[in-house]
Amino acid sequence: MLVVMDAHATEEQVRAVCARIEAAGMKAHPIPGTLRTAIGITGNTGVVDIGTLEAMSGVIECIPVSKPYKLVSRDVKEEDSVIRIPTPSGTVEVGGKSIVIVAGPCAIETHEQALTIAKHVSAAGAHLFRGGAYKPRTSPYNFQGLGEPGLRIMAEVRGQFGMGIVTEAIDNESLDLVEKYADVIQIGARNMQNFSLLKRAGRAKKPVLLKRGLSATLDEFLMAAEYVMSEGNYNVILCERGVRTFADHSRNTLDLTVVPAVKRLSHLPILVDPSHGTGRRNKVLPLSRAAIAVGADGILIEVHHDPDKALSDGMQSILPDEFARLVGEVKQIAAVVNRSVN
Ligand code: PEP
Ligand code: MN
Repeated sequence: MLVVMDAHATEEQVRAVCARIEAAGMKAHPIPGTLRTAIGITGNTGVVDIGTLEAMSGVIECIPVSKPYKLVSRDVKEEDSVIRIPTPSGTVEVGGKSIVIVAGPCAIETHEQALTIAKHVSAAGAHLFRGGAYKPRTSPYNFQGLGEPGLRIMAEVRGQFGMGIVTEAIDNESLDLVEKYADVIQIGARNMQNFSLLKRAGRAKKPVLLKRGLSATLDEFLMAAEYVMSEGNYNVILCERGVRTFADHSRNTLDLTVVPAVKRLSHLPILVDPSHGTGRRNKVLPLSRAAIAVGADGILIEVHHDPDKALSDGMQSILPDEFARLVGEVKQIAAVVNRSVN
């Protein structure tokens, strides 16, 4: 259910409607739009009396939302959401006219490795630095990440280069620490349906970068975002990172079709990760160009100055000079689709 408020409704009127919804045992989600505020209602423990709500001052109408996802849906918010990420060098906007570039190594390996890569990606124009301190690995014998010392290295990158940092939380425990250090909390593909982790991320005070699961349908992907939003965190950025298919020429099949499909149904921004999406260094540049052309709000790229020695995902990590070239090409494509890379 969605309560549409009058364009001139006062804050007090919005608050009164929210209070009435909450008194009925439901959760109210005020969603300010450019023209008017809408109030999404979630929760299945109570029943709202539509007549009573519609009679309240400032209310225009109550609309039933038939889709299973509500807060992520364009029915609830027509215009695109812009997620604002405060960083030492200014606010990074995701979902507006500008394209965001997120880059860094798959994993934070050493202090020197992280700072070397940060220097390169910062000089080439990356807005956010991404690296893993907690790595969800297929094998328990592979490098699992440095943990909190890795987060401390990322905090140093933040201080030295002014870039906001993005890093993955793999469970509730790591999420507490990631929330403390990072500017954006990444939820990885393998955890896209870890519902308790999604709920915890929904209670976090930082934006969430939610990667699509390896075999998730569009509905499942959007429902995962709904989990985060239903807990009150509306700052969700989606990310397509490839799905599993029969193709064996690439690690995953980057499903670029999902970008316009998401845009049709949801107001949330969506990034594309051609590194995991292809798993091959030589395919990252062409798929980055394609991602921007198809309407993605940004890209997430794995970069390593010595990929042959990388502790994870070396095969898909590009070299710093390739990354600089990629940013240049992405700028050209962005201009064609009326976007820009700041
Ligand atoms: C990663 O971003 O390094 C990662 C593990 O990605 P995904 O969850 O998409 O596999
Ligand atoms: Mn990786």
